[in-house]
Amino acid sequence: MKVVLASHNAGKLAELAAILGQSVPQLELVGYEGPEPIEDGVSYLENALIKARAAHAHTGLPAIADDSGLAVEILGGSPGIFSARWAGGRDNVANRRLLLAQLADVPEQHRSAAFICTIALVESSGETSFTGIWPGSIAFEERGTNGHGYDPVFVPEGFIETAAELSAEMKNQLSHRAMALEQLASVLATRF
Ligand code: IMP
Repeated sequence: MKVVLASHNAGKLAELAAILGQSVPQLELVGYEGPEPIEDGVSYLENALIKARAAHAHTGLPAIADDSGLAVEILGGSPGIFSARWAGGRDNVANRRLLLAQLADVPEQHRSAAFICTIALVESSGETSFTGIWPGSIAFEERGTNGHGYDPVFVPEGFIETAAELSAEMKNQLSHRAMALEQLASVLATRF
């Protein structure tokens, strides 16, 4: 079974192919070469659907796309779908610095946050989606060098380390993306 991943990011393709390949070895995940749609949805689900629909329309293959972000409780769920551009540009260092500044006076017990990932699956027969939520809190300063994005300021529930201090293997077992992928994998596995 061929499934197209609606992302031009080769790293993401390799990561998803590795995780999905373990549960659904019959699956061949291919990259998407077509035009990228404008992501103007107002939710993770809308943005994931916009991307997956474009890849499905262009290739005729079942298509998956993910959209993710960081929701901080005291900021009303922001940065949310604006996570990648929170400080204006696509600059992770500036994004983290802004977030830490916004929470500078917020005490430990009010720093709850969660990473959220929604994956959309669009096929000729219909559309479905899967969401993973990784709860935690925002640290007072950056720690760790693994991972990307907000990992150095996110402390997963049950840990004292930030996500950037965890190994990639550990993060790939626990993360919002891993949770959504697990649900997707179990649906795809029923096709064989
Ligand atoms: P995208 O869904 O890959 O476009 O990710 C949106 C943004 O959310 C990223 O640019 C990061 O800022 C943030 N984000 C999503 N997932 C993670 C994660 O696992 N670690 C750190 N930041 C993340």
